[in-house]
Amino acid sequence: SIEVRLENITKTFKTKNEILYALKNINFKIPPGKTISILGPSGCGKTTLLKIIAGLERPDEGKIFFNNEDVTELSPYERKIGMVFQNYALYPHYKARGNLAFPFWIKKTPEKEIDEKIKETAKILGVGFEYLLDKKPKELSGGEQQRVAIGRCIIRNPSIMLFDEPLSNLDAKLRVITRAQLKRLLVMFNTTSVYVTHDQTEAISIGDLIGIMNNGEIIQIGTYDEIANNPQNAFVASFFGKPSMNLIEVKVINSQIIWRNKGIPLEKPIEDGEYLLGFHGRDVLINPDGDIKGEIYFIDGTPADPSKILHIQLEDNTSIKIEIKSGEIYRCGENISFSLPKRIYLFKKSTGERVV
Ligand code: ADP
Ligand code: MG
Repeated sequence: SIEVRLENITKTFKTKNEILYALKNINFKIPPGKTISILGPSGCGKTTLLKIIAGLERPDEGKIFFNNEDVTELSPYERKIGMVFQNYALYPHYKARGNLAFPFWIKKTPEKEIDEKIKETAKILGVGFEYLLDKKPKELSGGEQQRVAIGRCIIRNPSIMLFDEPLSNLDAKLRVITRAQLKRLLVMFNTTSVYVTHDQTEAISIGDLIGIMNNGEIIQIGTYDEIANNPQNAFVASFFGKPSMNLIEVKVINSQIIWRNKGIPLEKPIEDGEYLLGFHGRDVLINPDGDIKGEIYFIDGTPADPSKILHIQLEDNTSIKIEIKSGEIYRCGENISFSLPKRIYLFKKSTGERVV
């Protein structure tokens, strides 16, 4: 497997009267055989990043290395990239079989060899794939088209696999099934991969590493635990802490967090000012002796979910979230008490920078 390294990648797009920085000085490394999920909101630059790794776009600045080979000037074909798109991007005039065979036709690979490769791929993709081969894309469902697109990616034995929100056009049930199948393939192939998504669950379940992106920048990279326990700024905390991260506007005066007219002493002194106090709803323990009181006004989740989110209105009208196990019974309108958990975060309100 190949190590992928991006060095100082910057990409701008010039529109009529402004220059848009789609990617700003991106630096990261993917260890050989690992999958990195790139997680970020729509418009943050995920697709642009993927296209630059693929060679479909050229960076304004910076270099891309595959195992110390500078591939920045190489075409996608020379980079041996396999890519799966959100909209499947199959050739509509060819049957599924033709879609898989296409790159080999161009290389004038003998038909017999192509047939072998297709058979092998069908075996890997499992039950029912063979049956799709003689249909055209328009005769296939979305999920089936995506299986063909994945087949077209793996049949070329690419050195790197890139996925651009490949599951987002599938319905919820199929998305979960396909996600598991994809993960299995990624582990089996041990091919270095980049998986782009705006969906946190997908990012966590697919990626060995997760890179959180916002506004053209990679804000934090790490394993799930590293990021969840140690968010480097308020954006990561709110984006990654879903569904139950609380971020509350507070003031710090004389090294005390002032919230609900009470002072919470800080272990080490920080500058006075406006901050966001963060804590996980799953770290909160509801107990009758707690000094914070509020009323449950909404319970989010279904009996099928392992946990539910209680939305609590506090006396000072702030709203916070507490995560509970689905088995625990609470009702809307109920009054509860709890204490602030031990693990808290503090971010500067102006910059989002973490200080505690
Ligand atoms: P994402 O995939 O995260 O939704 P994109 O990489 O598609 O984000 O886009 C990042 C930003 O770059 C967006 O503001 C988008 O409008 C802009 N952009 C992307 N491609 C082009 C292009 N070819 N021309 C001009 N602007 C573009
Ligand atoms: Mg995109």
